[in-house]
Formats: sequence, C-alpha cells, structure tokens
Amino acid sequence: MTDRPAVDRRGIFDLFARHVSPGKVAFFERAGIDFALGRREGPYLWDADGGHRLIDCHCNGGVFNLGHRNPDVLNALSRSLEELDIGNHHLISPRRAELAAKLAASAPGDLPFAVFGVSGGEAVDLAIKVARAYTGRAGIVSAFGGYHGHTGLALAAGDAKYRTPFGPPTPGFSQVEFGDGQALEVALNADTAAVILETVPATLGMPIAAPDYFPRVRELCDAAGAVLIIDEVQAGLGRTGRLWGIEHYGVEPDIMVIGKGLSGGVYPMTATLLRRELEQVFHADPFIHISTFGGAEVGCPVALRVLELSSEPAFLGHVGDLAEAFAAGFEQLRRRHPGVLVGLRQLGLMMGIELADAALGPALSKTAFDAGVLAVYAYNDPRVVQLLPPLNIDLTLAQEVLSRLDEALSALERIAGARG
Ligand code: PMP
Repeated sequence: MTDRPAVDRRGIFDLFARHVSPGKVAFFERAGIDFALGRREGPYLWDADGGHRLIDCHCNGGVFNLGHRNPDVLNALSRSLEELDIGNHHLISPRRAELAAKLAASAPGDLPFAVFGVSGGEAVDLAIKVARAYTGRAGIVSAFGGYHGHTGLALAAGDAKYRTPFGPPTPGFSQVEFGDGQALEVALNADTAAVILETVPATLGMPIAAPDYFPRVRELCDAAGAVLIIDEVQAGLGRTGRLWGIEHYGVEPDIMVIGKGLSGGVYPMTATLLRRELEQVFHADPFIHISTFGGAEVGCPVALRVLELSSEPAFLGHVGDLAEAFAAGFEQLRRRHPGVLVGLRQLGLMMGIELADAALGPALSKTAFDAGVLAVYAYNDPRVVQLLPPLNIDLTLAQEVLSRLDEALSALERIAGARG
C-alpha cells in the first residue's frame, strides 16, 4: 500500500479523449508516455497519481524559467490579488505604465513603448500590424521552420503544416533559410514591411546563427527600409545567459516580442516593445488595437518580479555556469554515445540535442521520459531534442539531468541497434 491519492488514471485519459483531444490521447498512448500532469514544484512535475517524477527540461518553451510555483513569483501574485483585478484596457493604468517603463529600461536599444497581450501569437500579430502600418508595405519575410504562434499573422509567418488545413494562405508572406544572409538579401524588396526572426529558432531545433548573421540582417533591413522584428518569446528573460538573446549579436531590433517566461508561469502576459517612431501608427486613433486581457493589471506585478529576478547579474551568471556544465557534460556524452549523439546546439541554456537521424528525436523524448526527464523533440526538425531546464536549478541537478540523459541515450542506442 502507498499513501498516494487514488487516481482514476483511465478515467482522466477517457475524459480528455472525449472532451478535449482524442488525437493527443492516441498520440501519447502510441508513444508509451502514460502521464497526466499532477503536482508541480520547482524543477519537478509529477504524474497525477503522485508516481512518476520528471525534471522539467521543456518548461513550456521558457514559461517556467524560474521553476514551477516559484515562491517569489507566487508571493507577487498573492499580494496583487489582494488589491487588483484585470483592470480596464481603455483606462490609464499605473501598473501597465510601470511595467512598460521597466521593460523599456531593460531592452536593447531604444524601445520605449510596450503593447501588452495575452499570448505570444497575439504579440507577434501586433508587431506585424505595426510594421505594415508604419511602412505602408505588405511583405513579411520569416524563416523556414520558425515558429511565431497560432494566431492570424503569426501563423502566416510560420510553416505551411500549421496553416494549410485552415484555409487559403494569407498574402504577403514569404520565407527564407534561417542563418543565410544572401537568401534574405534576395527576398527583400520595395514592398517588404518587416523581417521577423527568432533569435534562436526553437521549433527548428535551436540552430545557432553565426555571429555576423543578425548584424547583416540589421544592415539589410536598414537598406530596404524594412522593420526588424525579433521574437524573444523563448530566447528572452535570461535563457541564453543574457537578459535578451539578441544582445549576444549586438543588434538593436525595431520591435521585440516577449512572452512565455514573463508570465512567471502563473499569469499570462506578453509584450511587444516598439521603437519610438513606430508608436506613431496609433496617434491618429489610439483605440484601433484593443486587447481586453492584454496587460491585465493583476499580472503586472508578477511580470515585474520576473523581470527583476531575471535581470540580476548573479542570476545571469548562474545561467552561464550551468551552460558550461551542460557543454562539458555533453562533450562526454558524445564520446560515450557516438552512434546516436551528434552534439549539443547551445546558446546559454537554450539547448538542442542533435541526433544522428530524424527517428531518434521522438525516441529520445520517450527514453528520457522513462529516465525521468521531460525533453521534447523539435517539431520542425525531429533530429533535435530541445533541452530547456529551469534557469535556477543548481549544478547538482544539472549533473543529475546529464546522468539521466546518459541512461536515456543508452536506451536509445539499444533501440537504434535493434532497428539496424
Ligand atoms: N514565438 C515563439 C518563438 C514561440 O516559441 C511561441 C510559442 N511556442 C510563440 C511565439 C507563440 O506564443 P503563444 O503560444 O503564447 O501564442
């Protein structure tokens, strides 16, 4: 006997299949991943029955940069709940003003204005709307395999597989290879309103651009009169060891999109930061962009606390120390598992485990799950498994992740061996 709560696991899966997504239930059953999310705390997730425990190295793409239910963040939320609610999106808000000012002060370059949203997709939509309104042009260039969200314009900037089932393509969008300055030069023309890129394209398996790529992109945008939108939804807020990932490249975007981690994992909050001139598009009518829940006042103190914690030099230094530990650990793992492991793609703790072939990514997600690590393969390049641990784990837990991955890679070798 155990003292675990009696949980009707079959019942949870059946209810989910009947009312949320039969496809997802079938997927996880096929994959042999028998897990329904229960308790969560710090870097850990437990199954609903309190059994299988995972170290969360997915973190919802950075939502849980500070771990699950971070006490500091929860404290900000509970104090906020004592006096605030959503607020009114039409009225002047001291909370939104304060958060916008702090974001502006932290941003690379001159991005004094913030427009708040609820999801990354919404924030990207707004970025594209502003770029089009400001330039009077329609063209939007993005990267193949990039991902910017599930909403209208963000979806149009993403890959075909996410949008073709849902109707005809939105005009004005084109894609180039990420990291290829020449391809971008060819794609830009007199009708290009904006180039939108993730600093590190996560869904594409974390390719790390050469040091001269983003400076070149900046130059090309300037020459073409196009707006440069940098999507920091995953790379931002300390993930790369700098507060903003794009700082590694010394480039100042015209628009920067922030999401995921800004929520502290407890209250949805996204922001689109704008260069001073771009805000002019709202001068004629400041009410043409409205988001009922965007910048909800109750969430502002949470986002503010996240920003404070993530900006601390000691915190960013710790991310650097962890990144070094993972780099060294993967060098050893690569020697131990040369048949399956190619290497680690890495900018700080934005990491992608590169494997020998595309079948191995999903298989490693499964063997890692069995070994107690949640790490999800990149949907636009399944040869890579994303590795995004919380940024505040200690070095001992980082070593534990590495040894569990060692176990998972051994199991992967057995699978690959049996496959022949
Ligand atoms: N940009 C990037 C880089 C993302 O990874 C995501 C979500 N995975 C989004 C935008 C969209 O964010 P959301 O799901 O909050 O709309």
